[in-house]
Amino acid sequence: MDMKKMPLARRESMKGEKAKKKGAEEGRLRSTQKERDLFQKRKKNLKQKGIAVGVIFIVALLIGMALVSAVTANKDATNGVDFTPDELQELYRTYNITENDIKFAEDRLPHFLEGTTLYGKVATMGKIALEGDKVVVSEWIDPLFYDYCIKEGYKVISPEEWFAIEEKAREEYIKRYGVDPANPKIDIVDGVPLPAEYVRELVKSGKISPQETGAEPSARTSSSATVSSTPSGPYAKYSRLYLWIFAAKDSAHKPTQAYLTDTLNAYGRFYQFSPGTLYYYHITDYWDASDVPQPINSLQLLEDLAQDTDGYRDDYNDGDPVNDIVTGWVDWMDHNGRAHQNGYFSVCGVRSWDYPDWPHDSIAQHEISHNFNAADQGTWKYQHPECIMNYEWAYSGTDIWCSSCWNKVYGNIKGLWE
Ligand SMILES: [Zn+2]
Repeated sequence: MDMKKMPLARRESMKGEKAKKKGAEEGRLRSTQKERDLFQKRKKNLKQKGIAVGVIFIVALLIGMALVSAVTANKDATNGVDFTPDELQELYRTYNITENDIKFAEDRLPHFLEGTTLYGKVATMGKIALEGDKVVVSEWIDPLFYDYCIKEGYKVISPEEWFAIEEKAREEYIKRYGVDPANPKIDIVDGVPLPAEYVRELVKSGKISPQETGAEPSARTSSSATVSSTPSGPYAKYSRLYLWIFAAKDSAHKPTQAYLTDTLNAYGRFYQFSPGTLYYYHITDYWDASDVPQPINSLQLLEDLAQDTDGYRDDYNDGDPVNDIVTGWVDWMDHNGRAHQNGYFSVCGVRSWDYPDWPHDSIAQHEISHNFNAADQGTWKYQHPECIMNYEWAYSGTDIWCSSCWNKVYGNIKGLWE
């Protein structure tokens, strides 16, 4: 029977089964051509930005083309998502998706921070505290890093200033385009732009997988898993942790959505492990990921981040790299996130090309937990108690750890065990 003629739901579940059996390895190989198409399309779009304004019928034609190419490119997609252009249009109508929602998903609207002081080389330093359940950020300055920023031409902005400007920019963007850059209505799965609400239904009914990635054994970690009095991963030495947050700067990887509030909210949750004080640095326009051979390959992005930023961990704050962890945000990658388990680095994508997009705070909480040696705990909710380390729980926005994962993270943050 021709797959194209089958009812939607049935086709999804059949293809989903098939894709699951094929395994992740093959999915990674297949993504190469997809990545090339995607980035050519994106490059083309960037070029067109300057001239296409006002030529509405060309824009409409391009949207059509982009969608058709997305749809036809997905015969062997990881998650088995496959729609005809007509079916997609029907979905957009059902879920009130506007042309601007699609344009935002395809990077054809201006960046929401463009024109503000946050666009360009900006550094922020802050200290996190909890007031009740609420994460509060206050100013804190690392004098050494401050000097470095000034020398390198970074604007140093206080956390308060950052969030005030970001929030205002976000509100204006919603007013102007009807799109919330912190919570867009489109979720690209297998390269197909779908209504996020519809994707949630597909995950809930088990038709597509809410996967993250799998953690990578840290290159820095010994293969031994024995309990040791000198932990090889990060821990809150001197009762302090420092989180370095780098946003990719090259046009292909610069995040188009807000992520900082979510990252800090997630980071603040680690206060329940009594780490002492949590500090953070946020640096835009430093990390250049344009040299990554496969632009959305999360493993390559992770290694590139580690190479480009490792020196900061030694050079600043107390000079001891063991209490410094690093996370990088990119616009998108094949998965939601990837981290060195019991290591110092992670990357997060504001959107994932292959899988449903997790809330940004879930990605950050999950990846940082990997740094403290928590492992992945299954895809579906029924495989694990409510916990951020399980994919479906993370996708649906839980902010807790189960007791077993909690203990793992606790011991690692306190430097008690691996
Ligand atoms: Zn767990």
